[in-house]
Parts: sequence; C-alpha cells; structure tokens
Amino acid sequence: MRRREPEDRRDQLLRAALAALSETGIEAFTLAEVARRADVSPALVVHYFGDRDNLIEATFRQLVERVTTRPIKALADGASPEERLRAFVLEHLNPGELSSEASRAWLSFWGLALHVPALARLQRVHQERMISNLKHELRNLVLPEAVSRIAETIGALIDGFWLRAALASAWKPDVQIPVDWIFAAIERDLASHRLPAGVEAGRAAEAEFETINPATGEVLATIRIDGQAEIDKAVAKAAAAQRDWARTPGVERGRILNRAAQLLVENNERLARLEAQDTGKPIQETIAVDVLSGADCIEYFGGLARTIAGEHHDLGPAAFGYTRREPLGVVAGIGAWNYPIQIACWKSAPALACGNAMLFKPAELTPLTAIELEKIYTQAGLPDGLFQVVQGKAETGQMLSRHPGIAKVSLTGEVGTGKKVMADASATLKLVTLELGGKSALIVFEDADLDEAVSGALLANFYSAGEVCTNGTRVFVHHSVQKAFLAKLKARTEAMIIGDPLDPLTQMGALISQGHMERVLHYIELGQQQGATLLTGGHRVTAGALAKGAFIAPTIFTDCTDDMTIVREEIFGPVMSVLTFEEEEEVVTRANATDLGLAAGIFTNNLTRAHRVIAALEAGTCWINTYNITPIELPFGGNKQSGLGRENGKAAIEYFTQLKTVYVAMDKIDAPY
Ligand code: NAD
Repeated sequence: MRRREPEDRRDQLLRAALAALSETGIEAFTLAEVARRADVSPALVVHYFGDRDNLIEATFRQLVERVTTRPIKALADGASPEERLRAFVLEHLNPGELSSEASRAWLSFWGLALHVPALARLQRVHQERMISNLKHELRNLVLPEAVSRIAETIGALIDGFWLRAALASAWKPDVQIPVDWIFAAIERDLASHRLPAGVEAGRAAEAEFETINPATGEVLATIRIDGQAEIDKAVAKAAAAQRDWARTPGVERGRILNRAAQLLVENNERLARLEAQDTGKPIQETIAVDVLSGADCIEYFGGLARTIAGEHHDLGPAAFGYTRREPLGVVAGIGAWNYPIQIACWKSAPALACGNAMLFKPAELTPLTAIELEKIYTQAGLPDGLFQVVQGKAETGQMLSRHPGIAKVSLTGEVGTGKKVMADASATLKLVTLELGGKSALIVFEDADLDEAVSGALLANFYSAGEVCTNGTRVFVHHSVQKAFLAKLKARTEAMIIGDPLDPLTQMGALISQGHMERVLHYIELGQQQGATLLTGGHRVTAGALAKGAFIAPTIFTDCTDDMTIVREEIFGPVMSVLTFEEEEEVVTRANATDLGLAAGIFTNNLTRAHRVIAALEAGTCWINTYNITPIELPFGGNKQSGLGRENGKAAIEYFTQLKTVYVAMDKIDAPY
C-alpha cells in the first residue's frame, strides 16, 4: 500500500473535519471525533494541527478555497463582462456545493466568525473578495455610482441562498431559478444604469485617471483631473478663506486641528484599509503607522499653534522693535505615493497651524486618502476652502508651482521633480520645501549588537516593501562580523510573510504598480550583471492570487562594490546592498560619497564613536542603534540633493511663516532737514 504523503494526510483530515462539522455541528466537534472519522489516532491530528482552534481555522480556510475556486476560474474564462458576471454568480450557486455538506459547515463558520477573530478575518476577506470581483466586472457594465449597490445586492443574494440551503436540508433548489431571478433583477438594474453607448469603461478619458490596487490589479476609483480653471478657482477660494483664518487666534486654530486629529484616530481602521488598498502596503503597517502618525502630527501642530510668536527687542529708551510671525497665504503641498495620508498630514498640519490655506495634490497613484482627510478637516470645523485637495499628474502639480497666487510649494518626490518644481517656483520667487530621494548608508561596526543591527537593516530596507525615502539601502558591515551578520539577516529575511496586504499577518505587500515593479526587477538584473551575489530573493512572488499583483521577494545582494548601479541609485524597492569595510574613516568617506544626503544610521556600542561618526556623516536625519523612526517632535529633511527645508518639529513653523519686522519710535524724530 502507498504510504500517505503529508499533503494527502492533511487533506484527508480536513475532509473528515468538514464532514464532522456538517453532520454533528460545532458543539460536538473534537479532535477525537475527527480522528475517529479519519480512522487515525488523535495524536496524528494533533501532530498536523496542534489544537482544535487551529483545526477549525484550517478547515474553514480550505472550505473558502473550495467554494471560491470555481467562481474565480469562471471569471478568468468568460469572454465578456456580462458572461463572466453570470458565470461567477452561477458558480457561487453551484448545486453541488449548495446542497452538500459545505453549506451546513458554512453555517457553523458564520456563527463562529461572530466570536473568533481569526475566523472573522477570514470571513471578511472572503466577502470582500467576492464584492471586489463583482465590482470589477460591473464597472464595465454600469455607471460608477451603481457599481457598489449592485455588487452588494448580488453578494447578499448569494449569501441568502447559502443560508437557506443550509437551514432547509430538504430543499433541493433548481439553481437556474434563483440565477434567472437574480439576473432578471440585475438586468432591470443594468437597463437603468447601463453606460451610455460609446463610453467604454476602464479607459480613462482625457480628464480622468484610474487608481489601481497594486496587489490585485483592481480599479479602485476613477478620478477627475483638475485643470487650470479648477486650480484658479481653488486658489481664489483659498485666498478668501485664508484672510479670516490668519486672524483666527492660534488657540482656536489649534482646537480645530485637535478635533481633526481625534477624528483621524477614530477612523484609523477604515482609512488604514483604504491606504493598504491604494498603496499595496500591508494593513499591519498602515493601521499602526500611516494614519496615526498623521494624527500625531496634526495634534502636535494643533498644540504649537497657540505658541507661534515673534520677538521683542529693546532698542533703548527711544525705540523698541518686534517681529510678527505671519502666515504666507495660500500654499501648496504636492505628495509622493509611498505615505499618502501621512504626507498630506505632515504638510497640511503646520501650514494650517500657522494660518495658511493649503491646496494639496496627492500623487496620482494614491489619490484616495487625501480626499478623506479633506472630509475630516471639514467635519472638525475647518472653514471651507482652507484645505482643498486637487487631483492630477505632473501638469497639475506644475500649475501649482507656477501659480502667482500661491506663496510656497512643499513637495515630497524625486530629486528630478524637486529640481523642476524649484525652477518653476523661481518665476514667482516662491519658497520651496523639498523632501526628495535618498541612498542612505547604514553602518554596522564590529562592536554592535548584531541582532539589533539585523533588525535595523530589515526595517531600513523592507518596511513598506522598501518604498521609504530614508531607507538605508547601502548596508556597510565591518568585515569581522559580516559572516555572522549575513547568516542572521538571511534567516530572518526568508521568514518574512509576503502576501495579501489586507491579511493582518502579512509583513510585506505589493509594490506601488506593475511599472515600478518592472523598474525594481531591472535593478536586480543589473546587480547580477555587475557581479553582486544574490543572497536571497531577487524575483517576483506569484503564488496564487499574488500573480495579479506587483510583489517582489525581499532581496539582498552581497559582494557589492561602491560603483555598482544598485549601490549608487535609489531603487525604492525591497533591495538591500551589503558592503564590507575595515576602518571607521574609510566607511565615513564611502558613506558620504554620494550627491544625496537624506538619512544615515549606525550600530555601535561605543558611545564616543557613535557621536563622532554621526557628526561626520552628511545626512539630514540620523539614527544611532535604530533606523527609520521619525517622531513628529524632531525636524525631518535632507542635506545635499535630498532636499531643502525641514518638516516636523518646531523647525517646520519657520517654513510656513514669514517675519514682519516692526520698529516703534518712542521719541521725536531727529530729522537733519
Ligand atoms: P515623483 O517625483 O514622481 O512625484 C511626486 C509628486 O510630484 C507627485 O504628486 C507628482 O504628480 C508630482 N509631480 C511630478 N512632476 C511634477 C512637476 N514637474 N511639477 C510639479 N509636480 C510634479 O515621486 P514619486 O514617484 O511619487 O515618489 C517617490 C519619490 O519620492 C522617491 O524618490 C522618494 O525618495 C521620494 N520621497 C521622499 C520623501 C522625503 O521626505 N524626503 C518621502 C517620500 C518619498
């Protein structure tokens, strides 16, 4: 007899578990019962699944896979959107599944999901996938405003049939009847919401662009591009609102900002999900960092608003002078796509605290959360016009940097974009704050705690799939500890969980787009061509549903030299280059040998060396024994070509205000004429 392979055995046990759940229900569900049905010892079930909870979760995972495999395949096979939609619904109501044990087990699943977080997550992901697939097809058939409503209705009908099949065991449905009924309803709705003839959905008109979930390829929204007329109108509206805002006492401005911060915190989960969908970043990051660090920033500047003040100068008995710190007027913020809502907050909070109005343009790849921020400011009581989101690509950004009614532009983006914005701003002598790219160094000295250094290197390269401007992508490791460092680094990198960004267990999600993924893969190819050794990664991840997305395995190159392209250029993806060094002076010189100077980090337990080396590094933001931590209290920004000006901290106030100097005479004028 053939020995059972582990996978066969696992499947056999899961089948027995499903049968047990269906026939005896959750109350009587035990490992012993499953073992009895599978004709194996209970110890074997424990060996495969650990405990009852794990077995229940694994059973439901398999059940979800089973009931969704055919509908998903139907989507891939259909020739037209209508055909695909019909096949998708039909497969969800497949009689084989509806009338089988699956529907009864499914009922237990729904009941348990109410109380067991792991199952609730599974159920939510399943529901969202179904709705998202329905929406995807409907977008090609009906007007945008009808998509969600129809998708949700179909989803609810499918769920209803499953419930009915589970509860009425004698029910032998003729599935064609519910399917026809659903389609008659859909047809009626389609008839009233069908896209006008000649308009092909999915193809953006000149005045629109689509934002896509890079993990699934799904279109999340179609966004209207703002042109010159809209920008002019927004500037005029902002200017009118700003006059009163500038006169509003700081304490009142602060209160509104504090309410906005509170609302952001209350909406954290919803916004974190939206951000994860728009960026491909894992929800475990967006829920912990993106929205909350934005809220933290708004709260910080809300507090500072009442402290903004000038100086008094005693000029003797005949005069005194003082300065007023005044707002600039209407300012613009232009964001990058890697931290969309955080960037929107980092720019708008100090701008508004200082009494300015802001027009904010998010990056075209991630336009969604800025819109939510605008709603939150309104809800918090910010007067209309003071924070307005404008949408578009480079041309819309250019309209902002060239606009005579705008006093300042704060950009987060690439170095090349920074140069263009500065050139455009020069025509009207606007102030600029530029937060640009980097190619930062992380140095691991021989006395460093290696586990900590490895943690630092991982954070410095793989957080947000490596799409962080400050990333320490040039990791210089002292030759005496390199072997041990690499062994630990490789093991921990290979244990990282890459997957669906909405799964809370996922540690690394998708890159921002297919195009950017291709760019990063090209750099990986160059690394290999130029002689670096691939320690791990170096390829796309395409397992299962990930094939639809822009996923790359965390990648580490060793044997790198300073002249390689991967060591010189910003890749903005999960690619780490490890270099070796011998002497402190040597590594400082090599770390500084770049036009960029955004950040740097060192790991050492030698106190004096730590401060000596940090003082010698040409970088705007530095870390000792950690990496990529950016509390709002500390100014943030780059040196050299990584940028101009600072965000965060009290320093940001200087970049959103201007000084007015006032001389006050206390005596008669001593006129010589
Ligand atoms: P990008 O420069 O392509 O675009 C940034 C923004 O500028 C977008 O909103 C874009 O529409 C707009 N834009 C593009 N051309 C413009 C022009 N000529 N005039 C006005 N606006 C224009 O950058 P990206 O790809 O969105 O973001 C990635 C880059 O941002 C990386 O280089 C990264 O290092 C950098 N970044 C820097 C920081 C920082 O704080 N230093 C933070 C995040 C990202």
